[in-house]
Amino acid sequence: MPNMGQANLKKRPGFPARLGLPSPPAKLSASAGQVQPVPGRHLPPQGIGMDSIAVRQNMVAKLAQQGISNTQVLSAMASVERHRFVDTALVNQAYEDTSLPIGLGQTISKPGVVARMLELLCQGRGTRLGRVLEIGTGCGYQATLLSHLCTEVYSMERLRGLHDKARANLRHLRLANVHLLFGDGIAGYARGAPYAGIIAAAGGDALPQAWIDQLAVGAFLVAPVAGGPIGCRSQSLVVVEKTAQGVRHTVMEAVHFVPLKSGLA
Ligand code: SAH
Repeated sequence: MPNMGQANLKKRPGFPARLGLPSPPAKLSASAGQVQPVPGRHLPPQGIGMDSIAVRQNMVAKLAQQGISNTQVLSAMASVERHRFVDTALVNQAYEDTSLPIGLGQTISKPGVVARMLELLCQGRGTRLGRVLEIGTGCGYQATLLSHLCTEVYSMERLRGLHDKARANLRHLRLANVHLLFGDGIAGYARGAPYAGIIAAAGGDALPQAWIDQLAVGAFLVAPVAGGPIGCRSQSLVVVEKTAQGVRHTVMEAVHFVPLKSGLA
């Protein structure tokens, strides 16, 4: 995988520029209006980096053009340095709308899909969500975005190697409201329930009942689920809203996520 990034670096010699200093907040123009990155902790320069404010502004403007309108989601996407979560060889692809490998056969979703899912999770809310459960911590990028959007984040990962990687990636950010859990997310995390939102970054054949049980009334679950013809490995994004009367499922667009697997590894 590192070779992909090397090849890309060679193709575009003028890019990236060096990252000089920790990013100050910057004003962004997006079709949805002015988006202000929330002041957060930024890591010291990595040595290899990019002019990350400008490229993130560009990414956010594109997300807005694609129809993402939730300003909190756009602000979080503008603030979180996605290039810090990927391998150094992939740094200059970090703000392209593409999924990227994060090791152990897993991928970080493309920004457009991440923003879309976060918008669906937060729909109808002008303020922060309460406690949210994320299934599939991966490298910790989405958990970091969630830390801007929710009061508390419980994020579960079944692969020890990625759980450790996310822990390392988040260490310097000192996000007091993010709890990384090494465990099988299929069972959810009952101790934190009920959740003001549940979001999964891996898709199974069906939604685990535990997730629906652990969702608060009025909250949304956003997850990829296998769909389409039998034998075909297509997935759709599914939104489940829990109401006092029951649950309402809405099937959204086709997506492509890594499989939801049981057990630890
Ligand atoms: N949100 C992540 C994307 C991770 S990719 C990020 O921002 O990087 C999906 C992740 O789900 C993988 O790391 C995979 O190991 C994990 N996963 C799959 N099945 C799981 C399960 N049952 N419990 C917890 N994590 C799971």
